[in-house]
Amino acid sequence: MKIAIIGGGPVGCYAGYLLAKEGKEVSIYENHAKIGAPIQCTGILTSSFDQFNFPMEDYLVNTIDTIKVYSPKKKLEIKQKDYIVCRTKFDQYFSKIAEKEGAKFFLNHTFVRKEGNDLVVVNEGKEKRVTADVVIAADGPLSSTAKAFGLYHEGRENYYGIQAVMEGNFEPNVIKTYFGSDVCPGLFAWVTPESQHLARVGLAMKKNSRVFFEKFVEGRGWKVKEMQAGTIPLYHPKQKLKKGNCYVVGDASSYVKATTLGGIVPAFQQVQITVDCILNGKDLYKEMKPLRKQMWTHLQVQKIMEKFSDGDWDHLVGYVAQPKIQKVFERYTRDNPIPLISHVLLREPRFLRFLRYLF
Ligand SMILES: Cc1cc2nc3c(=O)[nH]c(=O)nc-3n(C[C@H](O)[C@H](O)[C@H](O)COP(=O)(O)OP(=O)(O)OC[C@H]3O[C@@H](n4cnc5c(N)ncnc54)[C@H](O)[C@@H]3O)c2cc1C
Repeated sequence: MKIAIIGGGPVGCYAGYLLAKEGKEVSIYENHAKIGAPIQCTGILTSSFDQFNFPMEDYLVNTIDTIKVYSPKKKLEIKQKDYIVCRTKFDQYFSKIAEKEGAKFFLNHTFVRKEGNDLVVVNEGKEKRVTADVVIAADGPLSSTAKAFGLYHEGRENYYGIQAVMEGNFEPNVIKTYFGSDVCPGLFAWVTPESQHLARVGLAMKKNSRVFFEKFVEGRGWKVKEMQAGTIPLYHPKQKLKKGNCYVVGDASSYVKATTLGGIVPAFQQVQITVDCILNGKDLYKEMKPLRKQMWTHLQVQKIMEKFSDGDWDHLVGYVAQPKIQKVFERYTRDNPIPLISHVLLREPRFLRFLRYLF
């Protein structure tokens, strides 16, 4: 079975690794000259990443033990273990293990269109035709491949993330998140330390992210070392995952948690399911149901958060700061919001009023 993967990001490389390990003939086409560059990611992985059982020493930069949450008037501390990775090294780790299993990489190769059953890729100005039994679209949030196969849902929306690696003084094992209409309406700003002296500082919004970013960092005495920016898809529940011999994964399929915009853990789970379906002829939509339910729940929470007033944020942060509630938040990672909602928020009548924001 010949498999063409478009996109050598972490998701395409992980899919390539799993398929090549099973003896499939895998070719990965990546439009950049180097895997993992440029970086457009904060590199936070929740401890749920442990489920994939990969050694992390090649790409781990820092380990977090606390998340501090700031609303306009309140604050809260949650003990959570997170990993901070270098995205260049992370992506390269997955390309190396895919290559070791026999996947072939074609760098500087850009997918441009589909012609009949063939794919057309361009390398150094020359077009090449590629024939494959299975095509995997892993070419990120604006996926040309998903579009060419008629798989890109027209109603999709994107966030624009902007961040800087900054020099300053930071709490080395604490991620700080800031909510409120002055900071980042609809989502949050983050300060994610690489060390005591270096942090990835950013925010994401559907529009105006640069204006809010500049306001957020102004006067803090931090020095910009490197600017990074990128598109982040908002999960769309009607985004199709398969048509004919083409499967869509990762950002190309909008599999990003709508509450935090973390895409790597859900996409790796999605890749495992997709590969299992390709190899064993299983029904993709049936197998994907539990993960889709989680993604859908993140989206509903995001729809509520998007309409929160500053008072709502203070209310929520004040409520979660109660020791008994805080403990529940510390027990679960933020990958699966269902236990948090059912164990905590739906049992608190004061929070049922937020459900009105869904309609
Ligand atoms: C500012 C920011 C911060 C983020 N922070 C986090 C975080 O902390 N944690 C987290 O989990 N997620 C985070 N994300 C999201 C995360 O970066 C993505 O979910 C993740 O990169 C998805 O991987 P992917 O392989 O699907 O797509 P990508 O990483 O986008 O990889 C797609 C690859 O396809 C290639 N490509 C594109 N078009 C073509 C083409 N036509 N032909 C050939 N190749 C092509 C691209 O060059 C790229 O290498 C963040 C995103 C942004 C923008």
